[in-house]
Amino acid sequence: MKTSRRQFLMTVAATGATLTATTHASAQAKLDEKDPAAVALAYTHDTKKVDGKKFPKHDKGQHCGNCALWQSKPTDAFGNCALFPGKQVDLNGWCSAYAKKG
Ligand code: SF4
Repeated sequence: MKTSRRQFLMTVAATGATLTATTHASAQAKLDEKDPAAVALAYTHDTKKVDGKKFPKHDKGQHCGNCALWQSKPTDAFGNCALFPGKQVDLNGWCSAYAKKG
């Protein structure tokens, strides 16, 4: 079957859009609380849900957005964390590796 120039260009455009969407989706993938790496550090999307008995040093003012390992803007709802490459953590999340920004 002969492909017309128009069909070819439409296919290339559609493929490009799919690749862009896929790349964008993986860059935006949110860390699952059940991910083994997240479980290992007791990561939660909501710092208010941290068990104070298990983590007595935790206080509700601690969250990803003011952690030294947060790598995004302080206003981003989700951002990158040095400990979870390729995943995004919640601005209001917390894990046991929390380190106050200095
Ligand atoms: Fe959030 Fe900091 Fe833990 Fe990363 S290290 S998940 S930014 S509390």
